[in-house]
Amino acid sequence: MSDFAVTIDGEILDSNLYDDDSWHDFKKNYGIGNIKMICCDANAIPKTSIKFKRFFSHQNGECATAPETIWHKTAKKLIINQLSKKGIMAVEEKIGFKWIADIYFEFNGKKYAIEIQRSPQTLETYLERQKRYNNSNVETIWLLKHPRYKTVTKAIGYYILKKEYDNKFPSCGIMPSLKSLPIFYIDELDFQIKGVGKFDYSIPNFISAVVENKIIFDRWWKLVNTNSTNGL
Ligand SMILES: [Zn+2]
Repeated sequence: MSDFAVTIDGEILDSNLYDDDSWHDFKKNYGIGNIKMICCDANAIPKTSIKFKRFFSHQNGECATAPETIWHKTAKKLIINQLSKKGIMAVEEKIGFKWIADIYFEFNGKKYAIEIQRSPQTLETYLERQKRYNNSNVETIWLLKHPRYKTVTKAIGYYILKKEYDNKFPSCGIMPSLKSLPIFYIDELDFQIKGVGKFDYSIPNFISAVVENKIIFDRWWKLVNTNSTNGL
């Protein structure tokens, strides 16, 4: 089961955006085969749980796709969909010089890559891969699975402690965040983008902030202005 499904026209459906009435209407009027699961392209059936939670379920039983793959595919789809709503064409698996980006796009003369990282990787590797993107003038953001994020922020903490404080823990504490590495995680339950410093934004707000240059580093990564509609 999933909160999300996709129509055969490529539109993402989010079961959280319905209320009881519109969900009821939708369940009555959709056509089987017109909605697909993001994980495996199986037919999706809109359902309501006994606790009144709205969700999509596979028409024929369970899904064989691994949870990590489901997370990866769903995150990718939600981000690409959000970019296309802004009229931005994203390319998947774009090959550059010594890099392959999960999601690549260009906007206002700038190049962007979004890496959706599910497998473990050392901090050293993150920094090295980030450097390769920098060399191609591509701004790259890393979106991890939560366990990966936990491990790498720990490593970032040790890295800062060693580099900036000679391994003596400062009284002000350490924020495990690096200017050279914009890194966050995508919650596998609500698909919000989260990180240190109570960073917590929906994918639409996050994507708006990326293309409007509103994600800044000030001791840690944050959004300058969360209200992306006023154009400030
Ligand atoms: Zn599936």
